[in-house]
Amino acid sequence: MPQLVQVAADGIGAPTCLGLIPPGADCQGVAEGGHARDVADPALSFASTRGWIAAAADRQEAVVDSAILGPRSQRPSRKTSSSPYALADRRSPAGRADRKRIMKALQYRTIGAPPEVVEIETPEPGPGQVRLKITAAGVCHSDAFIMGLTEEQYIYGLPLTLGHEGAGVVDKLGDGVHGVAIGDSVAVYGPWGCGRCYTCAQGKENYCENAAAEGIAPPGLGAPGSMAEYMIVNDSRHLVPLGDLDPVENVSLTDAGLTPYHAIKGSLTKLGPGSTAVVIGTGGLGHVAVQILRALTPATVIALDVNDEKLQLAKDVGAHHGFLSNSDAIDKIRALTGGKGAQAVFDFVVVQPTIDIGQSVIGVEGDLVLVGVGAGAVKAGVLASPYDSSVRAPYWGSRSELFEVLDLARVGAIHVETEVFSLNEGPKAYEKLHEGSLRGRAVIVP
Ligand code: NAD
Ligand code: ZN
Repeated sequence: MPQLVQVAADGIGAPTCLGLIPPGADCQGVAEGGHARDVADPALSFASTRGWIAAAADRQEAVVDSAILGPRSQRPSRKTSSSPYALADRRSPAGRADRKRIMKALQYRTIGAPPEVVEIETPEPGPGQVRLKITAAGVCHSDAFIMGLTEEQYIYGLPLTLGHEGAGVVDKLGDGVHGVAIGDSVAVYGPWGCGRCYTCAQGKENYCENAAAEGIAPPGLGAPGSMAEYMIVNDSRHLVPLGDLDPVENVSLTDAGLTPYHAIKGSLTKLGPGSTAVVIGTGGLGHVAVQILRALTPATVIALDVNDEKLQLAKDVGAHHGFLSNSDAIDKIRALTGGKGAQAVFDFVVVQPTIDIGQSVIGVEGDLVLVGVGAGAVKAGVLASPYDSSVRAPYWGSRSELFEVLDLARVGAIHVETEVFSLNEGPKAYEKLHEGSLRGRAVIVP
């Protein structure tokens, strides 16, 4: 099953894998690219997005919710109740056993087509699994990215129930589940790993050594995701208590919070007093990155985006400066840093123009942190980049970091700007993401 890998062109022509790939998979055929607008070509094209790929060995097994019911006219009427359980509960025990409960889900079903709201069988938790009644599911640009892959590149399985940011209430426990109780309000830790290897032992399931070989895929990125009324979580350790945190306002912390948090933590030692951090792309992830930087560091935070409204959002949530993302920004950042450059650049876009800006503004010993799923050539070497500068390509975050991110929200240090959509409005949420008109994150409430 898929283990997400990031793939970048090496500038010579052959793609270079930057992440884990499962045995038997390779990077060939995956080239550079990204969902994002570059400055020269502002058209944001689903079809043109390329570059990030997950290798799937056995995708069919993961799609447990693929049983689509027949046409609406052939289905039992649900007019008298809105509960997906109500119909079955009114029937005789024998009839109840025969009839599958149904639920709504937002699925990607056809390569190149928008996601669709469908009715599918409500999944039952197997041994060790937990079923959640979903309270909120976040919309990420990575979803748009995978829906922009060609048939040859797409290996997440179809139909795919979307949603790798999820929150819910524990609704049913499979045999042998401990540590959670029916009714608990929880957030889903998405980058599922094996739980046994060295990196998982440190809570870094995002870098699991065995996930690919064992067919473990994140929900919404191979396994059925959270954009449904119910969802199966494969192990209770992938649930983090939300407590009193509002699930709708906080669900996106599971990715749009956790990913920038992990990226920033890796550069914290560089961001002391007098330092400067640059955030490129202040959408879902980037606007939380600005807040994390303000909460954890004394750095001056400079936001870059191609969209004035996103720059305004960045300033509203704490950026000291906001500039349009073009070559003029380089001089402005150099001037603001007294010529020294920034100690860290967090690029949530990663197309060639943003990589070039990042490389032009990092200072000596600076970090260029590539979080967006685009790719491009990064110049490295004593004569090509500032002395002792580093390039990192982090992926998602660890389990313990998700606890920390939720704790930052609990003390009011970070929050996600959210626009709420119903499950039926899910396709519209992706349209708004596509056209760049969301403020912060879209959240689907089934
Ligand atoms: P988003 O659409 O909410 O935000 C992207 C922002 O980038 C928007 O504000 C957009 O206006 C801006 N932008 C586009 N082109 C730009 C340019 N040339 N210069 C500056 N800004 C530009 O997307 P998101 O959900 O926040 O995701 C951001 C990226 O992070 C995506 O590529 C996504 O796939 C990726 N991602 C990576 C990880 C990881 O683990 N590495 C995890 C989640 C998401
Ligand atoms: Zn995501």
